[in-house]
Amino acid sequence: MRLLIMGPPGAGKGTQAVSLAERIGGAHISTGDIFRANIQQQTELGKTAQRYSDAGEYVPDEVTNAMVKDRLAQDDAREAFILDGYPRTVGQVDTLDAILDELGNHLDGVIELVVDPEELIQRLLKRAETSGRADDTEDVIRHRQEVYTNETAPLLAVYGSRGLLIQVDGVGDVDEVSHRIDAALPS
Ligand code: AMP
Repeated sequence: MRLLIMGPPGAGKGTQAVSLAERIGGAHISTGDIFRANIQQQTELGKTAQRYSDAGEYVPDEVTNAMVKDRLAQDDAREAFILDGYPRTVGQVDTLDAILDELGNHLDGVIELVVDPEELIQRLLKRAETSGRADDTEDVIRHRQEVYTNETAPLLAVYGSRGLLIQVDGVGDVDEVSHRIDAALPS
């Protein structure tokens, strides 16, 4: 099973992707996690990524695409994977198509966690208050949602027209949403 998971920032994609990867026995490939690991280790890639992610912007496609191409070619991603946070732009969709073609693979489904953006903004503001995350000012939080709406939401129509889109209500506790995902997956 080869899947993508999409949804606005704060919808719980990462949490769902980790447990879903276990259930399908595949690799969990999170571009956000790879960037954060590089930021922590202060690599060149990390320094580039930090500039963009601190501002709530996307890292340029050339950087992100090369990183994902390497990751998808690794052994643990050959049979099954869940991509979390990639693709996020129409250009990245084209690149992913080319990468999967080259590997002789294709996607089986694209899960969209559906959550109202304004509800997410309120949730993220509360989290920023309690955790004191420096990058989580209201402006940045709102900007991230806008970037998602402008750059990433159009991908839902692309995957919808390919018959791959699986919309799942993302409001509820973690187990409840996981059960909804399992029930909606292609067999
Ligand atoms: P995430 O944890 O998925 O929200 O990612 C954290 C940050 O990493 C994002 O705000 C972006 O700056 C960057 N990022 C993650 N995935 C991508 C992507 N596919 N394209 C561009 N930037 C990305």
